[in-house]
Amino acid sequence: MELDLMIRDGVLVDPVKGTEERLNLGISGDKVAFIGKDEPAAKKVLEAFDLLISPGFVDTHMHDEELDDPGTIQRALLRQGVTTALAGNCGSGPSLERVKEKRNAPWLNLGYLSGHRALREAVGIADVYQPATEDEIARMEKLLENELGLGAFGLSFGLEYAPNTSPREIEALCRVLGKHPKRFVSVHIRHDGPDCLESVTEVIEIAERFRIRVQVSHLGSMTAFGFTARSIELIEEARSRGADVTFDCYPYAAFCTFIGSTVFDPGFEERWGKGLESLEAASGKHRGKRLTPEIYDDMRKNDPQALIIAHVMNEWEIRSCLKHPLCAVASDGVLHNGEGHPRAAGAFPRALRWLREEGLSWAETVRHATTLPADMAWLPVGRLEVGAPADLVVFSPDDIRDRATFEDQLVPPEGIAAVVVNGHVVVENGVIAPAPAGRLLLL
Ligand SMILES: [Zn+2]
Repeated sequence: MELDLMIRDGVLVDPVKGTEERLNLGISGDKVAFIGKDEPAAKKVLEAFDLLISPGFVDTHMHDEELDDPGTIQRALLRQGVTTALAGNCGSGPSLERVKEKRNAPWLNLGYLSGHRALREAVGIADVYQPATEDEIARMEKLLENELGLGAFGLSFGLEYAPNTSPREIEALCRVLGKHPKRFVSVHIRHDGPDCLESVTEVIEIAERFRIRVQVSHLGSMTAFGFTARSIELIEEARSRGADVTFDCYPYAAFCTFIGSTVFDPGFEERWGKGLESLEAASGKHRGKRLTPEIYDDMRKNDPQALIIAHVMNEWEIRSCLKHPLCAVASDGVLHNGEGHPRAAGAFPRALRWLREEGLSWAETVRHATTLPADMAWLPVGRLEVGAPADLVVFSPDDIRDRATFEDQLVPPEGIAAVVVNGHVVVENGVIAPAPAGRLLLL
């Protein structure tokens, strides 16, 4: 048997066994076909002596909903080593009919969640503050059933963005979801800041009542105002009662969302204990400027989709969230017209560095970016074994680091020697292949 590709002499980091061992890894087609000390013949050989080999990173929380964009965010994630990703989070998942048309050849393996806010818009709810009527709820249930039938991985809520969503509306949609095995609900909770504990409790109750898996989205950015430790305790207590609750986090003390959202309704300064000067325009004509009352008014009125970076969370709490053994790394990468937050280009390398700084072994570190998120979404990836999908990242343990900054948001990371998607080397020494090798994932 001649292998298609041999990655020779690298240190295999196995997040399941917790081992780091110098071995050769061979690929045949889109599968790992050989792991061992021998050297079977291969058409192509990649030398990896100073490098680690990990399963490709798995990002269960990102955004790729601007379907007319040619995949800027996918490429930014791919260069970080992300080989499988789920988009459509925070309530914004687009219809799968459009996804199938626009995302049939993605750069990485890409699935979608159906989005609650998108369902609301589809039944004609234009006002985000408006609770849905019984008739609208019934129509949303049908749409959701259809999206799940087309292959959506689950349902995402962005309750902070649709703040008057009623328990009845949530119940109806969760009951539809609960009829489908191995689908989950991701929730951007109703409140960040001081009321976040109440909101974490709300989603725990959803998981318990409807017996479904709930992923609390970017827990750090919702709670790192003095409430992260208590939020995690609430989740641990719920899990010990049998509730299926998971969570993810990105490694930045600044969040990012659009200026026209409810997040920036009057009152945010008191909520975070921070003034307008902690907000920075991330896209549009004011990009790079700190907000003044005049810029705030101009953007809210004239460019409500423009993104804001809010430097308002406590970094020590984000770090404590990320290193918790249950916490998956997720990018929450989001761009508007190709501009946004550096997490789209740097989240995974940055998270790996932070976790190493916290004293984790490479196997433990990599687990937060591979097996853990994969298992959260029942994705059959995140493992290094014969027969596993040939999705890999080969990187330097000394050199891997994010380089994207708030000023220069899309600079690719350093230290990633190769990224393999479905058996194809799609990034080699920072250079991205001419053609994508990912697949649109439909359940
Ligand atoms: Zn969100």
